[in-house]
Amino acid sequence: MNKYMTIFKKIIDWEISSEIVYEQDNLIVIKDINPKAKIHLLIIPKKEIATINDLKDEDRELLADMFFVAKKIAKDLWIEEGYNLQFNVWPKWGQEVMHLHLHLLSNI
Ligand code: AMP
Repeated sequence: MNKYMTIFKKIIDWEISSEIVYEQDNLIVIKDINPKAKIHLLIIPKKEIATINDLKDEDRELLADMFFVAKKIAKDLWIEEGYNLQFNVWPKWGQEVMHLHLHLLSNI
């Protein structure tokens, strides 16, 4: 088990609710509870990986899936012409939840 058992794991396991906008076998996408833009989504792998630093070779496909899902959602939401994708890594650079997640933000 991940030593940083997080709120995202509880969301993935349906122990607490959240606004899930997309789900596939290996990841979910939820609305950020404290949005910093008109659209602020979090792309979260179901696998417990704490940070980018903890990625293993076997996670390459999962990481690629995160970006392809970002692309799909940007298309679905008509924000293809302007959005930001962001990973915060460790608390010194703003990572609050120690479960890997990709922020997708847009003000379009
Ligand atoms: P980070 O600072 O990169 O770790 O981002 C964590 C994000 O998770 C922040 O933008 C929070 O607003 C968001 N967040 C925390 N708890 C929840 C929750 N229960 N549901 C949705 N988003 C959350």
